[in-house]
Amino acid sequence: MSGMIALDRPLDRVSDFPAIPAGWAYLDTAATAQKPTPVVDAIDRAYRETYATVHRGVYQRSADMTLAYETARRRVAGFIGARSDSEIVFVRGATEAINLVARVLPKEGRNRVLLSQLEHHSNIVPWQLAGYEVDAVPLGDDGRIDLGAVEEMLTDEHRLVAFAHVSNVLGSVLNAKEAAALAHDKGALLLLDGCQAVPRMPVDVAAIGADFYAYSAHKLYGPTGIGCLWGRADLLEAMPPWQGGGSMIDKVTFERTTFAEPPARFEAGTPHIVGAIGLHAAVKWVEKIGLEAMHAHESALVAEARGALSGIAGVTLYGPEESAGIVSFNVDGVHAHDTATILDDAGVAVRAGHHCAQPLMEWLGVEATARASFAAHSDSSDIEALVRGIEQVKRIFSR
Ligand code: PMP
Repeated sequence: MSGMIALDRPLDRVSDFPAIPAGWAYLDTAATAQKPTPVVDAIDRAYRETYATVHRGVYQRSADMTLAYETARRRVAGFIGARSDSEIVFVRGATEAINLVARVLPKEGRNRVLLSQLEHHSNIVPWQLAGYEVDAVPLGDDGRIDLGAVEEMLTDEHRLVAFAHVSNVLGSVLNAKEAAALAHDKGALLLLDGCQAVPRMPVDVAAIGADFYAYSAHKLYGPTGIGCLWGRADLLEAMPPWQGGGSMIDKVTFERTTFAEPPARFEAGTPHIVGAIGLHAAVKWVEKIGLEAMHAHESALVAEARGALSGIAGVTLYGPEESAGIVSFNVDGVHAHDTATILDDAGVAVRAGHHCAQPLMEWLGVEATARASFAAHSDSSDIEALVRGIEQVKRIFSR
């Protein structure tokens, strides 16, 4: 991307991120982001001052809360370029979003889904549970999804192509527009798992030409327990409900029930009201900094980290040079869990394991990796702490 500006200065993490103490290098944002003060404050205020149910109450407080909940939906729609609020379904997170599509999207006689080798388990297992036959596109040598193979592998039996927009292990960025064109060429739909993309780069679902987009608020500096499924209006309208209960109905009798229009049709039960308010605050916070600036900032940190780590003998780096804020690595002869434990002692929090991407571990030929992931609050001091920690790992294991 061109014309981007880096953050002028790293955020003051003690004041902006109350749960990050000074001296702690939090490098696990790809698992979940720490929360900036405005998000914590919005949630606190909602429970302390303005709380009530939504959609049902006749009294003023409930009407105000309904307005806040639906305003959150509008802001979230604008954030990813949705054409209308009704294209945004609030769900528990990306996992639930993908399960929803897998369960109720009419298959139109097509029973296959095309995934890639780097998918998170939440973009594999739901398709299997819903009875789809799964095919997986290989990766190129640099760890990006090989779009050339998509063209070869797609058939008219594929209902969908479902890819991670950004890999949670390698940080590799998909050429989403090209993926959409390839899918549509064969009459398939494109679902993007945007969990790692929305906190790291601008996303415009209309410009991409996607059909579904899923993400979780907690990776976008918002609360857990809420996320979004964006779906093209005509697709959502053609989908039957997947869970029954309050709020998703039009008329109920013991003989027959008719259902509400989307998005209410897919939001059975009392929703995560304050979650939506927290997500709204997170979107506002992210937009204030600017996703282009955040992307530039994290890309610069990736370059710095890859440069520093590749200078340490016995460290293997995975994934492409250009990654959106994520660096996976291993120290020769050391299990990633041991690396992460020693790093923890050194005040550095990284994730270690298979990252819910076992097929990718198989492709990499490893059991696990250690993963450092950056955020808006990250800076060079985090990388310096990581490098010192890795030197310590090597010292301990050379004894
Ligand atoms: N997809 C990707 C790429 C992810 O990184 C994650 C979270 N690790 C998920 C899906 C699942 O997200 P959640 O657990 O919030 O539903």
